[in-house]
Amino acid sequence: MKKNKHQNKQSLNLSSSGEKPSAGARIKTEKKFGLKKWNIILCKNCGNAITSPETIISVNDKHIHTLTNLEDITFDIGCFSSANGSTIFGDSSPEFTWFKGFTWNLSICSNCLIHLGWYYQRKNETFFGLIVDRLMDTKSP
Ligand SMILES: [Zn+2]
Repeated sequence: MKKNKHQNKQSLNLSSSGEKPSAGARIKTEKKFGLKKWNIILCKNCGNAITSPETIISVNDKHIHTLTNLEDITFDIGCFSSANGSTIFGDSSPEFTWFKGFTWNLSICSNCLIHLGWYYQRKNETFFGLIVDRLMDTKSP
């Protein structure tokens, strides 16, 4: 039952893509970041530079996705085309992916090794989904 619950939440986020197997996440570049103006995007834990505003993208028409994992922990994740300050960790997995057709790896801070989010991959498409609460910009207190 727990598994089904999770899948329902996923399909909610992807409902605009339909149910066809070929349909998946749509990635596009988003110049403007609606919720907050970032400067350099840093690891909140150690201050390591993770990425920059130029890498902000929308996936399925949204930059921020609120997603719940199998342990019922909810994350706000932001989508980024790259994150040079993070390290991709572990093997890729297709299981319980939040984005249809994409496999995921863990993404950790390359300096302090804290879990920052996930790296998603599908054929030629890749992006990072990073937990917003674990990032800060250079203007944050
Ligand atoms: Zn760090």
